[in-house]
Amino acid sequence: MSVFWPLMIGAVLVLLVLAVNALRLRGSRFPRISYTPPELDEAAIAQRLAAAVRCPTVSRRNVADMDPEPFIALHACLEDAFPRVHEALTREVVSTYSLLYAWQGSEPGLEPILLMGHLDVVPVEPGTEEDWTHPPFDGVIADGYVWGRGTLDIKSSVVGILEAVETLLAEGFRPKRTVYLAFGHDEEVSGEQGARAIVDLLSARGVSLGWVLDEGGAIVTREFGGGRATQVALVGHGEKGYLTLELATEGKGGHAAMPPRATSVGIMARALTRLERSPFPVRLREPVNSLLVELGARMNPVRRLVFANLWLFRGVVARVMARDPLTASLVRTTTALTVVRAGTKDNVLAQSATAQVNFRILPGETVRSVTERVRGVIADERVRVKAVGNAWDPTEVTPLGSPAYRAIASAILAVYPEITVAPNLVNGATDSRYYVRLTEHVFRFSPIVLDKNDMGRIHGTDERISVEDYRRLVLFFHHLIGVSAEAR
Ligand SMILES: [Zn+2]
Repeated sequence: MSVFWPLMIGAVLVLLVLAVNALRLRGSRFPRISYTPPELDEAAIAQRLAAAVRCPTVSRRNVADMDPEPFIALHACLEDAFPRVHEALTREVVSTYSLLYAWQGSEPGLEPILLMGHLDVVPVEPGTEEDWTHPPFDGVIADGYVWGRGTLDIKSSVVGILEAVETLLAEGFRPKRTVYLAFGHDEEVSGEQGARAIVDLLSARGVSLGWVLDEGGAIVTREFGGGRATQVALVGHGEKGYLTLELATEGKGGHAAMPPRATSVGIMARALTRLERSPFPVRLREPVNSLLVELGARMNPVRRLVFANLWLFRGVVARVMARDPLTASLVRTTTALTVVRAGTKDNVLAQSATAQVNFRILPGETVRSVTERVRGVIADERVRVKAVGNAWDPTEVTPLGSPAYRAIASAILAVYPEITVAPNLVNGATDSRYYVRLTEHVFRFSPIVLDKNDMGRIHGTDERISVEDYRRLVLFFHHLIGVSAEAR
């Protein structure tokens, strides 16, 4: 009796707290800024995007393999399409192919802002050209879509940003705040020559930025508890780190008829098995935490109760998320065994075995901590572990209370009034990681609408954007630049 009542009262109190939190859970409210969108000539804007698609600006890891012609053609194409931009803004060519535009603000005391994109695209995988409904570099407009490589990734943003500025100039708009437009030419292969060089240049000039907006988030449709499909604009507030480790073992070699107890292949296989069986721990942290809260507000009562009370259910939620590869990438450093090499002939012992393992590092961990953990998990001195290629730590998470986030969200809602705007962790790599030197407010988002099938079109076959989505993309940038360049 004496134990029962306090326990009972405790349980009721906890339930009460859970319920109150669930009832009070609300999605973020963003200021609605009155906005009269300009009349855009859909056929004309689609044509200008299509013209850019016709320049096959494929970047190659080895600069010598890169064809410079399409990049020069694209520069000319943009100059042709946007005469006002090229008259009113200064344009610098950086590293021969990248472009940096500056639209001088009237009040030099205000921190400039910078919008990013990249001019390069990935190649079309040889042998898949015939699978395209319209050839990837023909810039065909058909059935309400602009078709071709780069329409989603990410010429739509590059051309759309320029279209927005051209429209603002035609309206007589003059920014108070300086607006930079930065378009690298090698994002798909590293960004070393493009984005990094632009950042070096701005940094040498002592420029610090109010905020930066790059690609890396989009508008997706997801079903959340209750079966209701909701459109969510995922705005990247942070980006995972990147590391590839190479594992190597040496063996004796020799005749396969007299194998030793442990061969280099066997040692490697055991190391790889250990890595895959010991995934990194799951952790729920920002900005994923805030993403869940934002989505929770739109869910059925049970899920709402859970997401409103992550203080209690954090562990359970993280473990559930870890079950699905898509959500797992948000709660842990991922381990992907990608390359294994050993052996030359079936009756000869391999003298060595090597493997490459790719990691996408969760905020809170580092290249160093991941490497150390991997050595610990393998726990075998016969396996050498070293980093290969470029590696970088995860970015800082951009503060969620930032005015720039509100401006981006307001611009999204001006164009897609019914949508949910939520922060997100980007698990790919974008050029924006170089910009953390110039500002702590880095965002990754472009208003392209992706359904399940569209995901496969990025870097895949039949990449396309609907003319209506593209029109809204231009309006998004028009609203965002107009409001942000004006604001004090
Ligand atoms: Zn891209």
